[in-house]
Parts: sequence; C-alpha cells; structure tokens
Amino acid sequence: MSNTNRKLSAATKIAQALHYLDPETGAIVPPIQTTATYARDENYTPRKPYWYKRDGNETTSHAEKMIADLEDATDSLLFSSGMSAATAVIDHLDQNAHVVVPRAMYHGVLHQFQTYAKKNRLRVSYYEAGDLDELNSVIQNDTALVWAETPNNPDWAVTDIAKAASIAHAKGAKLLTDCTGTPPCATKALNFGADISMHSATKYLNGHSDITAGVLSVRSIGPYWDDIALSRKIQGTVLQSFDAFLLIRGMRTLFLRVERATENAVRIAHHFENHPLVETVLYPGLASHPGNAVQLIQTGGLFGGMMSLIIKGSPQTAIDVTRFCQVFYPATSLGGVESLIEHRATVSGPDFPVHPNLLRLSIGIEDVEDLIDDLEQALERANS
Ligand SMILES: *Cc1c(COP(=O)(O)O)cnc(C)c1O
Repeated sequence: MSNTNRKLSAATKIAQALHYLDPETGAIVPPIQTTATYARDENYTPRKPYWYKRDGNETTSHAEKMIADLEDATDSLLFSSGMSAATAVIDHLDQNAHVVVPRAMYHGVLHQFQTYAKKNRLRVSYYEAGDLDELNSVIQNDTALVWAETPNNPDWAVTDIAKAASIAHAKGAKLLTDCTGTPPCATKALNFGADISMHSATKYLNGHSDITAGVLSVRSIGPYWDDIALSRKIQGTVLQSFDAFLLIRGMRTLFLRVERATENAVRIAHHFENHPLVETVLYPGLASHPGNAVQLIQTGGLFGGMMSLIIKGSPQTAIDVTRFCQVFYPATSLGGVESLIEHRATVSGPDFPVHPNLLRLSIGIEDVEDLIDDLEQALERANS
C-alpha cells in the first residue's frame, strides 16, 4: 500500500542532492558557480543573495542546504576548513569570556583555545571528555560556551549530549558539539540539545580526502549567527565553489559509506579485542567501551569507522606497525573511503595527553579481510 504522506527519508534526499533539478534544462547535478562578482540590476541595486564571491555562492549554498536538511537545522554555514569554522565560533566570543573545553580533543581546536587563553583573550577551564561531573564542577555562572567533541579524539570518549546541554543551559551557556567522528546521518546533535553543531566536512561528509571544509549548523538564528556569517564574509573563509561541488558529490554516498565503514570497524574491533599483541581496542561500538550505551542512542548503532588500538610493547613497536602497513595509509585525517593509520603521539607532539602506544585508525570501505590481514602482518613484523 502506498503511503504518500510519509516524509522522504534523509538517505533519499541526500542521495539526490535534495532532488536537484534545473527548471530550465532538466540537469540533475548542481552547476559550479565560478563568478567572483555579481552585476547589479537595472536600478543599480545589488541582486540577492550574493554580490561578491567572499559572501558565498550558489554551489556552496546548495551544499549548506543539504547539511541543514541532514542536521534538522534552520541554517548551516560552510567554511574553507573545520578549523576556520571552529575559529569563527571561538573568535566571536567576547573579550575575557569563560569557556569550558575537554583536556584532550582535536589538537588544532585545543591549540586555538590555548592560544586565546595565553593572550588573555579567553578564560579556559578544562574537563575530562565525557565526564559530566567534572564539566558540572568547572562550569561557572558566566560561562559563555561549553565545547564537547563526541566521540572525542583520540580515545573516542562519548559525551551524553542531552545531559551536557542541560548543564550548559542551566548556566546560560551555549553547547557546541563537534561530532566529526559520527556525521549527521548517525548523530543529529541539535536534536539532542546542542546549540551549535560543528563538523569537519573534510572527513565523513565529503568522504574522499580531496577537500578541506567545515560546517556550523544551528536551529536558532539571531544576531550571534549573523556575526559569525559576517566574520566568514570579511575573512573570506567561505567554502569555494569547486570544493562545494566535490562535497555535494561526496555527500550523495554518505549513508552508504558510513554504513560500510561501521560494518568494517565492528569486525576489526572484535577481531583485535583480545589479540595477544594488542593491549586495548577503543571503539564505542564495543560493549567494553564506557560510552557504548550512550553512543547506541546517539548514533542509532551507526558507530562509524573511528577507533584506536593501544599496542603492546614500546612506542617504537606502535610506530613500526604504521610503517609496515601496506593497505592502510600512514596518514592523518579520517572519514575517507580509504583506511588510515596514525601514531597520535608523534603527530600531536609532546604537550598533548595521549598514550604513547596509541594508533588511531580511520576504517574505510575496503574489503574488511584485506584490512585485518594488513594489520595482522604489520603487528607480526613489528614484534619480530
Ligand atoms: C579534522 C577535525 C577538525 C578540523 O577540521 P579541518 O577540516 O581539518 O580543519 C576538527 N575537529 C575534529 C574532530 C576533526 O577530526
């Protein structure tokens, strides 16, 4: 029986780029708008909504509409990288504002907070990612922003977004979530109470490791959102149209890619969980992970492809595993179709709290047997 009242599912809408269809030509793929400037109309009035490329463009707007749809957001803004999106939020805070951020998190964002704190631009308090009691104990009556990365780099600690939101809101603070590890086909952070949902669209949203992009999505728009849009326009950090085209193309397969990456990651996590050469597998999809129950709710079981392995032996053993992999690339980043492996302590430097034997794995969409065999041979070689 047909049910014409049922709303189209997000998977359908995103696969069709929101059923894009050019009314004049019938083209079903959005064009790449390359113009740097827009002519005024016959009354010498600027046409809406753009007047210059630094404002944005039609291609980027289409990608923003797709993400807003995925996020159940009122509006989304795309930036030239996750870091420029994050920085737009950080920079928008008032002089001397108080923020609460995780002690360990994506290193670039942590670096920004530390830099702003050093210059006395912000007051920063820290909490252990996922630890809501500690968050509650460091938040202040005048806290402006709580930053939560969930799942959190590099051990994938899970923050209960709804609970973090009520702690933040009780003090009049905004909650920003960075759920880059579980894109909005898995976690719609605004639905759990986040005020701003941030993603590095470089990662799962694009999924093909060929652009950098970042996005902020919100439900309630107002002067602060206009300020953030203005800072993007003034600084020229808008995502450019060629990259937006690649992002639209990448997002069409988002659901498929994240499903396959999750399937592969679950297999790999179980395979290495009690492995003689592996100390610990950190993956929220495992029942042994402390965030498993919350993440089941926050992802609907689509745990994604991010995990870390703590390797037995010395830090050099862990580095050797990355050197000996032949299928996994020894590269930074995550969320692409190809699997990556990375020794985090080498990449994040001496000041960052990370286990010296931790390898971060971004599981791609390859044949899972090839991935398991590759890790097995690399572990064996590193230990011989
Ligand atoms: C990659 C990443 C960022 C930064 O995004 P870029 O696109 O590399 O600038 C921020 N947060 C998380 C969790 C990330 O993985």
